[in-house]
Amino acid sequence: MPSMNERSAIDVVVVGGGLAGLAGALGLVRARRSVVVVDAGQPRNAPAAHAHGYLTRDGMPPLELTSIGRAEVRAYGGVVIEGTVTSLDRLPGGGFRVVLSDGSGWDARRLLVTTGLVDELPDIPGQRERWGRDVVHCPYCFGWELRDPPLGVLATSPHAAAQALMWRQWSPDVILVRHTASGPTGEQMAQLSARGIRVVVGEVAAVEVSDGRLSGVRLRSGEVVPRRALVVAPRFAARHALLDPLDVAVTEHHLGIGCQVEADTTGRTAAPGVWAAGNVADVNAGIMQAASSGVVAAVAINADLTAEDTDRAVAAAQAEPTPARSCRSLRFGQAGTAPPHRADGQDKVGAAGPAAAAAVSQADATQPGIATSDRCGGSRAPAEWLTPVHNAAQTPCFLPPRPARSRKDRSATCSAGSR
Ligand SMILES: Cc1cc2nc3c(=O)[nH]c(=O)nc-3n(C[C@H](O)[C@H](O)[C@H](O)COP(=O)(O)OP(=O)(O)OC[C@H]3O[C@@H](n4cnc5c(N)ncnc54)[C@H](O)[C@@H]3O)c2cc1C
Repeated sequence: MPSMNERSAIDVVVVGGGLAGLAGALGLVRARRSVVVVDAGQPRNAPAAHAHGYLTRDGMPPLELTSIGRAEVRAYGGVVIEGTVTSLDRLPGGGFRVVLSDGSGWDARRLLVTTGLVDELPDIPGQRERWGRDVVHCPYCFGWELRDPPLGVLATSPHAAAQALMWRQWSPDVILVRHTASGPTGEQMAQLSARGIRVVVGEVAAVEVSDGRLSGVRLRSGEVVPRRALVVAPRFAARHALLDPLDVAVTEHHLGIGCQVEADTTGRTAAPGVWAAGNVADVNAGIMQAASSGVVAAVAINADLTAEDTDRAVAAAQAEPTPARSCRSLRFGQAGTAPPHRADGQDKVGAAGPAAAAAVSQADATQPGIATSDRCGGSRAPAEWLTPVHNAAQTPCFLPPRPARSRKDRSATCSAGSR
């Protein structure tokens, strides 16, 4: 890992190497961008033995998924390191400084932040230890594995009744433990009752465990309600602290289930040059959505870098005009029949400066019309498009900026047309 004073600007530093970060990194390295992923190695689903619903990898342990992802990124030259980013600062000249807890770091042109979220669980003794096993939140992650046995849903928010009705799809034996929530409403009571879901009134004091498995919930009254698993609704708190100095916006989720970094559909945040993907920007995302959002962000970042690279190239070309070369092989046809673009992909003539004028003065006198030259990149364009020089009835060969070449090479390109 380079030390601070050895570092050079990386195209993109990805902060967080869960599936969102790694999928984004893979897109970027395959776009030939230099990428460093810094990952603290604790994906949110790490407490679970298996990750579900990831097509072609259903049931794979979470850390195996990220391990494969890291290898895929590295195979293209991406750098993935274990570490914790402690600060992100915007540099005065553009780009960002990324600093790790050990003092090392990089300067980056763009940031992709995929730090995930923290599941803030209700404060019930014994529950944290069972989290991701038989204290769960997500039916799509755990429902199949927990199908049929007695389930309890802990009510801590107005969404609890809906959660209980949802879990009824996986088990015929669901109870709603009212705990600290108000409700259910009359309408919800009718729905719960119609689906055979009983409401237990009382606050949960602890979860009961026997033989290494959750066996029930103990109420403050001392009553134990036998259950095989407990469904809870954590508050989803996006890990956004690193982004705060960069002035990203953080908003409450519209369902009131947590907070997340505000980003557009590509992950672009309010802070120029900073993208966010995965759970940090969408607390509801499962692993496939998280990975997908990383890919979308990678595409957007690459497009943004491409635009910047192009601007820089144009500025450099304008600061140092490419010498124009005359081409005797230019043939002229009828105006109006040429394609509306140049073969070199540039849509403006950029080198019509003094050097071009000098070249023009040496070129053959011809008539205005269509200029075609196989030796000048095969471009075929209206001669008026090559103004201002066509008025002099002479057309220089404008080539896109290229690395400097030897005189011998130059003459090989345009020699047939050179005087
Ligand atoms: C118990 C549990 C089980 C789940 N099971 C499933 C399932 O089966 N199927 C499903 O679709 N979804 C499941 N989910 C949801 C799933 O975990 C998320 O969708 C997914 O982890 C989001 O990916 P992410 O890349 O956004 O964040 P994460 O996977 O959380 O990755 C974030 C990474 O960033 C790192 N990080 C954080 N801060 C820093 C920092 N400052 N510097 C460096 N690195 C940092 C973290 O250590 C972590 O490695 C489950 C969630 C939980 C809680």
